Amino acid sequence: MSDIITQMTARMGLRANPNKSEDYTHMRIDEILQTKRTLSFEVFPPKKGTDERDKLFSTIDELKALSPDFISVTYGAGGTDSKNTVEIADYLQNKAHITALAHITGGPSAPEDVDAVAAALKERGVENVLCLRGDRPVSYEAEYCRYFPHATDLANYLAPYGFTLGAACYPEGHTECESLYADLVNMKKKEEAGARFFITQLSYYNYYYYRNVKEARRIGITSPILPGIMPLVNPKNIRRIKEMCGSTIPLEFRNMIEIYDSRPAVMEEIGYNYAVYQIIDLIAKGAPGIHLYVMNNAKTAQAICSRIGRVLHELF
Ligand code: FAD
Repeated sequence: MSDIITQMTARMGLRANPNKSEDYTHMRIDEILQTKRTLSFEVFPPKKGTDERDKLFSTIDELKALSPDFISVTYGAGGTDSKNTVEIADYLQNKAHITALAHITGGPSAPEDVDAVAAALKERGVENVLCLRGDRPVSYEAEYCRYFPHATDLANYLAPYGFTLGAACYPEGHTECESLYADLVNMKKKEEAGARFFITQLSYYNYYYYRNVKEARRIGITSPILPGIMPLVNPKNIRRIKEMCGSTIPLEFRNMIEIYDSRPAVMEEIGYNYAVYQIIDLIAKGAPGIHLYVMNNAKTAQAICSRIGRVLHELF
């Protein structure tokens, strides 16, 4: 499978993945993006003990075979411990030799927590941080965002550490924002605070991504915007996706899910193929890379990469 991807990158005129080299050096994502389109994955630290952690390490080893340019690791999402983020980023960077993008969320953190995590990441050679406010807990209290009300506050605070910073953006608008335009203005503030690339909320409508990029450029945002794709293979996730992320599921896709939701094998095929359709369209229209939310499942990434490889092999 990696052969297919190597051929695919060669045909697209892309540089070989530096992470494959034995002389791997830690890479800054903004610099990688200046030279090639990227393929990246997102994982989350397990909540439970060492067995789950070791399972994730094996998953990372499997993902490495797909030559990602970087792998991001979430922070505090779903109640995970921030120490685990550092541990997984360390494994990525220093054992698997894959460029790590560590998420940090300012919302639940005090400055001393941020300092501890930033120092631990620096010590381990992690150069890239995705700077976030964080998911608000269900029983939100103002205290939650006492020190870092927004990702911009965290970005400003992290500036002296010299990380390459990325930030989140929302093609359909962030769920708390009163208008798309207000959200775009806030996206620009993130760039002004130091974000050098953006990763979008997962989306099933490429149209919203193209609109986000167009409007971002119109108001002067210049950083690359990486579309986030999460193959939807489990019909139970539909409602959650709308509630948690505000992402619309297109009618044609919803119809397929309704018809086949009791047949998991068919649903899997539909989910993978829909994601592949989105990815081919995004690549054809010039997206600077693809960020796959693989939910710690190497099979998802393998299923997508094998399909993209085959199709692009024929097309280019
Ligand atoms: P912000 O940028 O602070 O935006 C939140 C709201 O405030 C928006 O409505 C925005 O328009 C507005 N806003 C932004 N800046 C300003 C400003 N300066 N002044 C006034 N208003 C402003 N959650 C986790 O808990 N852990 C993770 O690891 C994680 N990873 C993620 C990765 C990606 C790629 C994405 C898209 C989301 C991720 N999330 C994660 C979820 C994210 O934390 C939530 O979506 C959260 O509600 C907003 O985070 P943010 O960084 O976009 O916040």
